Amino acid sequence: MWSDPDAVVVGSGPNGLAAAVTLAAAGLKVHVIEGAPTIGGGCRTEPLTLTGYWHDVCSAAHPLAVASPFFRRFDLAARGVTLARPAVEFAHPLDGGRAAVVTRSVTETAARLGADGPAYQRLFGPLTSHMDEICQTILAPLRRPPAHPVPVISYGRRAVLPASVVAGRWHAQEARAIMAGAAAHAMMPLTAGPTAGDGLMLIGLAHAAGWPLVAGGSARITDALAAALVAGGGRVETGRWVRSLAELPPARATLLDVSPRALARLAGGRLPGRYRAALRKFRYGPGVCKADFALSGPVPWANEACRRAGTLLLGGPFEQVAAAAAAVAAGRHPRDPYVLVVQPGVADPSRAPAGRQTLWTYCHVPSGSAVDMTGRIEAQIERFAPGFRDLILARAARTAADEEALNPNYVGGDIGVGLQTLRQTILRPVPRWNPYRTPVRGLYLCSSATPPGPGVHGRCGELAALTALRDIFGIRDRPDIGPSRRRPPATIPALPRFFGPNGYGARSPASSCPAGPDASRAYFAAPLTDAYILTPAGCDDVA
Ligand SMILES: Cc1cc2nc3c(=O)[nH]c(=O)nc-3n(C[C@H](O)[C@H](O)[C@H](O)COP(=O)(O)OP(=O)(O)OC[C@H]3O[C@@H](n4cnc5c(N)ncnc54)[C@H](O)[C@@H]3O)c2cc1C
Repeated sequence: MWSDPDAVVVGSGPNGLAAAVTLAAAGLKVHVIEGAPTIGGGCRTEPLTLTGYWHDVCSAAHPLAVASPFFRRFDLAARGVTLARPAVEFAHPLDGGRAAVVTRSVTETAARLGADGPAYQRLFGPLTSHMDEICQTILAPLRRPPAHPVPVISYGRRAVLPASVVAGRWHAQEARAIMAGAAAHAMMPLTAGPTAGDGLMLIGLAHAAGWPLVAGGSARITDALAAALVAGGGRVETGRWVRSLAELPPARATLLDVSPRALARLAGGRLPGRYRAALRKFRYGPGVCKADFALSGPVPWANEACRRAGTLLLGGPFEQVAAAAAAVAAGRHPRDPYVLVVQPGVADPSRAPAGRQTLWTYCHVPSGSAVDMTGRIEAQIERFAPGFRDLILARAARTAADEEALNPNYVGGDIGVGLQTLRQTILRPVPRWNPYRTPVRGLYLCSSATPPGPGVHGRCGELAALTALRDIFGIRDRPDIGPSRRRPPATIPALPRFFGPNGYGARSPASSCPAGPDASRAYFAAPLTDAYILTPAGCDDVA
């Protein structure tokens, strides 16, 4: 039984949970507090349209989870998370039934690119074979010399360029479209650096790791994290929005899975003025408008290979995708948006009743937009898949403004939590040697506003937790988060007791964790299947 946690984590996105799992693996008592009714943040699965249709609310394709050193150590497969692998990683349809098609094999992909094939092979052959070494550097703060400098420098000197420069070496629409679709993930004009970095990384990962979906939905990942946390003695409380650090139970370390704006608000006057001013300078990017569909059958893509792709990137040739990205950056809603599409049914039949399909889509829009882009998204799909509209049984849309209302981390609907300029890629959220540590002792930022940035990889959370373990608890060795680890001793090294920010705050009534239905609930995640139901933790130590 424990009443006072050693560490409190606010927010149960993949980074909040990765932080919590890391701290619990070191033997700490960890309490996660989540504002939404269910855990998972940007990694959740819900029946958004019709009963029996399971939609990924946010993340759907998971190359970063495969590449992440955190998830490799955590071992998703051993935790019961099954990756669903499509035959085609991603495709970029073009008019006239043509498409650029990317599979795991660089050679096969290059062979479809005609005269551009040899240049594609020369670029992505070596990049793909060194993707592991490159990921060790780019899925970490770029603060230390890379362990494998040759491939990292080779990647880095191209990554800082605009996508338009790298695509400029190709001639046909197909090869240029591959770079356009991957680089446009950056939500920046394709004439700006380092958009080539996103493009090269995502294409390299398609070949090295794939762009898999998760069987049953992306929530399986956060379910697995929460299950490991609960098994390690931690607890998760949902339905409790934290508005000030003073509301939190006393703990020696507090880790915030929130935006820089929320960090400034929650910590208030405890943060020195200079740090608060630096947080205010943090720039957010454009937003997204998401549309999910329940379909009576598979999307009738004109190009046959597109019917086997997990992800499709729509927008036509490089110039049209670039025009859409430039329009959004200039604060306009493009008539022909760049649309990301995931069709889980090609690899995971469990998402919809037999013969039926779900479809996940979003497009980029100006920050804070309240415009519902569903009609324009449908028009782009119809352009490459005539007859698509006839299949729609139900749709659910979320504007950029809705995104922020549902998850305050996504300021203005910016799902990357921060514009991905070169400066903010390296120095997010503020220029500091350790980006996770704040000037308030015991207070850390662990969200995707810290390096290595957006995506479901858990590294922001893990690296923030390792900093806290070192700073506050004197634990220097990385705890074993693997599935077969032995639980560490419940005691942590005896150190002078420093109080984190919570130590100064009054203990709020909610922190006594009443178990009634009206009170903030202490329970485990909303299950997708019975396999995920754990006994409610209540306020008891489940260890
Ligand atoms: C539409 C969409 C599509 C995406 N697609 C992909 C994809 O295909 N692949 C991929 O890898 N990534 C994708 N992402 C990005 C990915 O989801 C995020 O980068 C990732 O979830 C960030 O994790 P996080 O833990 O930092 O934050 P989040 O996942 O945003 O979690 C933060 C959590 O903190 C909670 N919280 C915030 N403030 C408070 C508070 N004051 N009190 C209590 N709780 C609070 C929130 O409710 C939320 O649950 C997508 C995101 C979106 C929105």
